[in-house]
Amino acid sequence: MLTIKTDYEIELMRKAGAIVRDVLEIVGNNAKPGVTTRKLDAIAYDYIKKCGAHPSFLGYGGFPSSICTSIDEEIVHGIPSGRVLEEGCLLKIDAGACLNGFHADAARTFLIGNVSEEKRLLAKACEESFFRGISILKDGIRLGDLGNCIQTFVEGKGYSVVRELVGHGIGRELHEDPSVPNYGIMGRGLRLSKNMTIAIEPMINYGTRKVQILEDNWTVVTQDGKPSAHYENTVVIKEEGVEILTL
Ligand code: MG
Repeated sequence: MLTIKTDYEIELMRKAGAIVRDVLEIVGNNAKPGVTTRKLDAIAYDYIKKCGAHPSFLGYGGFPSSICTSIDEEIVHGIPSGRVLEEGCLLKIDAGACLNGFHADAARTFLIGNVSEEKRLLAKACEESFFRGISILKDGIRLGDLGNCIQTFVEGKGYSVVRELVGHGIGRELHEDPSVPNYGIMGRGLRLSKNMTIAIEPMINYGTRKVQILEDNWTVVTQDGKPSAHYENTVVIKEEGVEILTL
């Protein structure tokens, strides 16, 4: 269901958003070579609970953890485990928190230790594609315009945009309508309107855009094994521009 939020509901989402912003920062500060992804998950769980919130992902569709930890060719939905972070990897952390019945959702790509120039530029382009996308947003802009903006930027850099996974509306539910693709055709798609809240989350690959799912039925990886980057924020559409709730 697609929902338009009241100003009060947006205020609640702002509070959930601040928790997600902070948990990503805390996890990022702890993400170093030698640390397990399970340790990062525990840090995230403890922080979100300390804030009086609930980790949105924990138990969602049976997901076993509070955050997703995806490394290098893993695009999204990696499950925290005893795997140790290694020097030079790209770590994508996706986190959500629910406070007073409202969710916020965001993701970052962290560079672990000394990372190759190729990976660093990929992560940078992913983040930049998000900001390019939101720069055109305001009341009345179509989803196709947003997707096209992100896609054009990413493909212009020689990277590819994942199609199987997209952003989403967010509010009382972690995933609400509409779907928010990171690709699209100008002038097509739903018109965004004031006080809609959406999670915009480009997932971009160094090589092929094609993906596959690992045997754990969660982890989505690139088909060619080349690295991927992810960057996400929950935003509210304003009359002019957007407000980012998770930054
Ligand atoms: Mg999301």
